Amino acid sequence: MQGKSLARSLTERSKFVVVAELAAGPGFNFAPIEKFLKTAREADADSIPVGFDFVGITAPQSPGGVANLEPADVLTRVKASDLLGSLDFIPHVSCKDHNSDAITSSLVTFRARGVESVLALTGDKPVRSQGVFEVESVGLLQLIQRMNDAAYLKAGPEQWDGVSQLFPAAAVSPFKYTEASQMQQYYKMEKKVAAGARCLITQLGYDWRKSLELMRYLQESHIDIPVLGNVYLLTTTNPAPRLMHDGKLPGCFVSDELLATLQREKLDDHVERAAQQVAMYKAIGAAGADVGGLPDFDTFVKILRRAEQIGGDWEKHKDNLCWPGADRFYLYDEACRRVNPGKRKKRLAQRSFNLTHRMILDPEHRGFRMARHVLGVMGAGKGSGFGYKLFATMEKGVKYAAFDCQDCGDCYLPENFGCCTMGGCEKGLSNAPCGDSTVDGRCGNNLDRTCIGERIYDAAVAEPDGTQRLRENINRPRNPDLRHTSSILNYLFARDHTKKNPLISIGDQISAANPKTSKVMKEILDLGEAAFARQKGPVGHIRALIRSQADEGADYIAVNVDALSDDEGQLAVKMMKQYVKLVRQWGRGVPVCIDSRFDDALAAGLKEWYSTDQAVRPPLLSFIRIKAADQVLALKREHDFNLVALLGDPAGGCPGVDEACDLARRLFDKAVKHGFEPGQVFFDAAAVPLVKDEPTLAGGRGRTHSAFETIRRLKSDPATKRSHYLLRIDTAAAELPGRAIGVCRAYAASAMEHGLDAGFVNPALHYGDEPADPALLELVNAFVRMDGSPEQTRIAKELMARFCAENQKPRKPAPAPVLSKS
Ligand code: SF4
Ligand code: SF4
Repeated sequence: MQGKSLARSLTERSKFVVVAELAAGPGFNFAPIEKFLKTAREADADSIPVGFDFVGITAPQSPGGVANLEPADVLTRVKASDLLGSLDFIPHVSCKDHNSDAITSSLVTFRARGVESVLALTGDKPVRSQGVFEVESVGLLQLIQRMNDAAYLKAGPEQWDGVSQLFPAAAVSPFKYTEASQMQQYYKMEKKVAAGARCLITQLGYDWRKSLELMRYLQESHIDIPVLGNVYLLTTTNPAPRLMHDGKLPGCFVSDELLATLQREKLDDHVERAAQQVAMYKAIGAAGADVGGLPDFDTFVKILRRAEQIGGDWEKHKDNLCWPGADRFYLYDEACRRVNPGKRKKRLAQRSFNLTHRMILDPEHRGFRMARHVLGVMGAGKGSGFGYKLFATMEKGVKYAAFDCQDCGDCYLPENFGCCTMGGCEKGLSNAPCGDSTVDGRCGNNLDRTCIGERIYDAAVAEPDGTQRLRENINRPRNPDLRHTSSILNYLFARDHTKKNPLISIGDQISAANPKTSKVMKEILDLGEAAFARQKGPVGHIRALIRSQADEGADYIAVNVDALSDDEGQLAVKMMKQYVKLVRQWGRGVPVCIDSRFDDALAAGLKEWYSTDQAVRPPLLSFIRIKAADQVLALKREHDFNLVALLGDPAGGCPGVDEACDLARRLFDKAVKHGFEPGQVFFDAAAVPLVKDEPTLAGGRGRTHSAFETIRRLKSDPATKRSHYLLRIDTAAAELPGRAIGVCRAYAASAMEHGLDAGFVNPALHYGDEPADPALLELVNAFVRMDGSPEQTRIAKELMARFCAENQKPRKPAPAPVLSKS
């Protein structure tokens, strides 16, 4: 029999899903879990009421920050004793005890053991040891998404059924009672969804208006994601209510009134309240409930049966489900109207931070260039030496006094509106806050401080576009290599997270010219339009290509379907529209590069890119030839775009330098006439494979020489110097027997010296970031110097012959001849 699956049940949404949260007892005691599951296995098949689908159990990881049985260990034990039956197992994975590598290893192990759904959490601050928190919940979800994408990238046609995907759930708390803490919870929830959360589980809380508020917020924000309401059986038969009331379990809130009521009540009343909560979540549109605090399976069944009896009549019990804090922020008023955010003024510290940042650290400001120059002359930019130490020491003192700086070296003060989430947060989170703030906005792990999430929110709301920036910005984990180095110098000299790509990267991985991608595209084509709407199958591979290129910092994501099209380009038009839509959907805001020899496909892709209510950045249209230039450039009247003008023949490479420069000027004049700025024009100097480069141009020049010289000449021309220059860099290494990446790296490095600033590339290779191998640079430069002199041609050819001989892959040995015995 097929086992149950939370992911499947939530996708089908046929019944109200229920999971039971089972924690080990104090002192690593497995007995409570064993007892629950044994009774569940022995129970009658109809013990769970018909409207409920008991799908599985969730296993918390060291709840409350106190060491306990690891979920992996619980899985081993329940499997060894065959206690699960057909139930799903959903481990909590948190960031408190492990760095990102260890979390990845643990996820890989879970996946190999058949785990599909995980609850991805930041985790509680460890009570007795040092928390790690290298990533937090958003970083963890991104990590899971990268693992899922990697599985799809590895697979090829006819292997899709074997691609295992983790189904991550994320937590959200609607039970905050200050505007700042509550809005930060909703913004972080949106970031979690953007980072790949497939379902939400609420924090525990006892206020139906807040539960409803969450559902309303999701609807209003057009976020269609299943929600499981957290129903914790709050009973005075254990210390949980008192600990929550006293703030000993951060993030869990029990008001004075609720505690007093619980103390007056009996266990049956506590069970009744849990049942009312289940019924409430079912009625307000939640997909299910995560029921915790259970002493045994019978109580679990009792809660569900009573919830079934209550059905849609939960509103009769509103008073029993409403225990808010003293401060009562609700996002919607009694008439369901959204309340306006309170006004904030910039504090003096925020004003000073903004002013200093603008004067010295804004690249648009003269102060930035002066600071870079002076510090460079002092030798501070090198990352060592007396000048560097002097500056770093001063910086540490000032930043510690002003921001509680912890010297992480990869500073996120600008993204966090002048607040440091290392020194200002008990967990040092990259993306604050967690869910631990108290009802009045203090840190649940240190009541003497205001939660950093509150401070960031207040500062953000005081900025003109701050709320939107706060809502959208996801900070990457800090670069650990920069710890204890000067963050200002890391920023000024482009070593921190703000570092830009040396080349404008046009991700070239979605191209029908690539044999594997072409097969995947063909499979999608055969499946028809419906394939694009599926989560699984070949479209998963394309989605992974889009997301991975965006993650690697691509400036554009190119789509080229020409190799699969008919000669008239009709199929290219149809396919281009679908792929452009996918880039818009999955590309995290990175604009598409519509790359086609069919002008109709360029026009159709451009129109499709803008067929949305979302704000999108101008795409790049490639490749525009002189013949049809006016027709394509006229599209600018309808939609803005940037363009790639081709200076040669894609098959034959760059023509002679004079012809290419003449062509460039004519294309440039046309573009300007149609209203393009010089910076919107990219010239493609048309690369050829080095191995095929022959001295066939006028005067015996080679095509690589011609392409590089064209770039150099146009770059020094006052008219075209502000335009961009690109090459399809991977072309250079085509048909080489090995070391293709190294050759491309050397090719890019040499071209950049001639003025190249953009390229069709695999963004994961980050050409221009690392130095090229000198021997490979020598090989490339030999072709760059092939200017007609027989001597230069001889050197290039000899170097290429030697390179090919050295990198020839050993052939498979021929099978040994069968010797006859005669
Ligand atoms: S360098 Fe790091 S620790 Fe220091 S203020 Fe900036 S973010 Fe905080
Ligand atoms: S300061 Fe806020 S975000 Fe940081 S640990 Fe405390 S409650 Fe969580």
